[in-house]
Amino acid sequence: MKTWSLLLLLVLSVQSFCPVIQQTLSAPLPMLQPVAADDVEDSDVFLQRAIARKPSKKNYASDVKALVAKMTLEEKVGQMTQLEIGLITKGEGDNIQIDPDKLEKAVVKYGAGSILNVKDQALTVDKWHEIIGAIQTASQRTRLKIPVMYGIDSIHGANYVQGSTLFPQEIGMAATWNPILMQRGSEVSAAETRAAGIPWTFSPVLDLGRQPLWPRFWETFGEDPYLASVMGVAFVRGVEGDDVSSSKNVATSLKHYVGYSFPLTGRDRTPAWIPENYMREYFLPSFAAAIKAGARTIMVNSAEVNGVPGHVNHQLLTDILRKELGFDGFVVSDWQDIKKLVSEWRIAANEKEATRMSVMAGVDMSMVPSDYSFSDLMIQLVKENKVPMSRIDEAVSRILLVKYQTGLFDKPMPDASLKSNFATAESRAIALEAARESMTLLKNENSILPLSKDRKVLVTGPTADSLISLNNGWTYVWQGNNAALYPKDRPTVLQAIRAKAGDKVSYVPGVTFDKEIDINAAVQAAEAADVAIVCIGESSYTETPGNITDLTLSEPQLKLAERIAATGKPVVLVLVEGRPRVINKIVDGAKAILMAYNPSNEGGTAVADVLYGDYNPNGRLPFSYPRTPNGLITYDHKLFETENTSYGNTAFSPQFEFGSGLSYTTFGYSNLQVSPSNTSTNGTVKVNVTVTNQGQRAGKETVILYVRDVVASLSPPGKRVRRFAKVSLNSGESRTLSFTLRPEDLSFIGLNNKPVIEPGDFEVMVGGLIGKFAIQ
Ligand code: BGC
Repeated sequence: MKTWSLLLLLVLSVQSFCPVIQQTLSAPLPMLQPVAADDVEDSDVFLQRAIARKPSKKNYASDVKALVAKMTLEEKVGQMTQLEIGLITKGEGDNIQIDPDKLEKAVVKYGAGSILNVKDQALTVDKWHEIIGAIQTASQRTRLKIPVMYGIDSIHGANYVQGSTLFPQEIGMAATWNPILMQRGSEVSAAETRAAGIPWTFSPVLDLGRQPLWPRFWETFGEDPYLASVMGVAFVRGVEGDDVSSSKNVATSLKHYVGYSFPLTGRDRTPAWIPENYMREYFLPSFAAAIKAGARTIMVNSAEVNGVPGHVNHQLLTDILRKELGFDGFVVSDWQDIKKLVSEWRIAANEKEATRMSVMAGVDMSMVPSDYSFSDLMIQLVKENKVPMSRIDEAVSRILLVKYQTGLFDKPMPDASLKSNFATAESRAIALEAARESMTLLKNENSILPLSKDRKVLVTGPTADSLISLNNGWTYVWQGNNAALYPKDRPTVLQAIRAKAGDKVSYVPGVTFDKEIDINAAVQAAEAADVAIVCIGESSYTETPGNITDLTLSEPQLKLAERIAATGKPVVLVLVEGRPRVINKIVDGAKAILMAYNPSNEGGTAVADVLYGDYNPNGRLPFSYPRTPNGLITYDHKLFETENTSYGNTAFSPQFEFGSGLSYTTFGYSNLQVSPSNTSTNGTVKVNVTVTNQGQRAGKETVILYVRDVVASLSPPGKRVRRFAKVSLNSGESRTLSFTLRPEDLSFIGLNNKPVIEPGDFEVMVGGLIGKFAIQ
């Protein structure tokens, strides 16, 4: 075993490595299965092993072929059809019931291959068993008894199943820089989805968060392609496991392929402009890595790139996805998106033409989802020779393959014995650990934090007492905004603070998200307190309802923080938000700033644990936090975009830099060694660095290794993340980490859209140290 031990070992040995965790977890973290016998892990070791251990896809080719040969055109088109649950049910909310006539039409008459989602809200496991059971019973009445593949958005846990274990949203998981934790959480999410009888989730989101206005920013792993790739692979491996047919695993759907997250305006489902070389450099790698890890399905970008809507982009959906990335699962459209080719994108004159274009571009299954138009039109198109039967057979074969792989033919019915494998103390402990590891301390002047429990605190602001805000969208309902559905036994930030500091805590909300309630009352309460904890940010949203025109935090919230700071009492800002809202007016007036993202139901506890020092924070920002609404620029910008150039540019001046995150201890870096100093275009480079915990308490440090290509034929980014590793160090402890860079880490996509490695000088940056090497 090497001289240093990283996060896998750290989680495996949590009792001995992390006394802080040991003290505060209500249940110990479960033992994780090592990814390999040699349990030393940096991000690359994790990635390579996860991909190498890609589960073997049992070869069902002959079963699929035999089945397709028996199918009529109508049956084939049925398999390509995905309908929403409303087409088989009546009633609303909890009172939803199967409507036998509707079910007969959808599953028996039209032979729908898939049904999705909830009607309004999360259902109990029992209700899911009833519904899925009825669907599969109907499917077994069809001529060929092909099971229906139910799909659902398990975005941060099985969030459409009541009582499930919920995890921080992806942006928070990215802030942990801990792929093992991501994998472990995904295992829980998959097991709880399967326990409900559902074999397929529409996650992970592998779009990059490089446009903070975009209302789905928090659904991403942040701005960096490498971090998103590592976390995406961890997600897929956790959800799909070694055997996706097992009672603990389900199929993933990578989404939204590709370029969806980068709309020029920031508004959902509006155009992106991404040249092919940048598409390949930034937006494709996370998908490519997750495909290598074995992902079975992929969902299409609902918007357009370079004027081409995702759903008709043959180059992306077929040429690149199939031929270059080697994807062999099936492609599902997003919601109603074939219809939208007519109504929104105006790229087809009518739905029939849109259907032809989309299927010929590579869409295998249409999320129609609210009528039968797709099936009817497809049948006409084939009969009129406008879509060849070979293309239909290809799409159906891909769909059937995944149905075989997920075990649906063997066991179509939900398994009643799985009902108890749900929301265990063990899974809750993982969610709590994930919430804690996501907490990112951005400022801590004069070590105002951690707070001692005998100080009088005022808690104020609209996110202080809100589980909705801690969770955000895709929580029990699409927009996450139905308070009645939230658990009663999970503390908000306020309740968790009260649990620690009892009668030292006063609470005055002060403002709502967008209106003043009584700021004077909050100011008065601040004057009577020793410290003010001002909890601000956003309520819940996703997709189009979350569009905004200005990143600046709402005026009432800024005013609340300003007025409280003016009292002279120390202010601690807690940010509960899905995207970085601009807060420059109140940053200087705050002594401490804690970024909580959307940490979910254990998030209140995690915030309080950090504020009171029961947990030593170690999250790192997975995006650049803008200082101004127009200061939108990523960490991997070009050097000439920064200040001190001959142009005097000052564009890059984030409020908080990508990778920021403080600890209650201090880490020092030394002995950076890069060897060899000269290498060839196919050589490797070894980087060693020593990290020391120079402070008084144990802590975890994420070591981020950046590489800079000094001169390149396309203006090079100032730096790119190429490796990272999370180490746990006791006070005074040192570790030497060793990373290996391979040629692909030193290449970039040239103007010919192919990777190129150019000879010249390179710099390696770790923890403020710089090393050099050259490619001859
Ligand atoms: C979203 C997808 C989601 C689908 C099904 C769409 O509106 O864009 O991310 O998977 O709905 O709920």
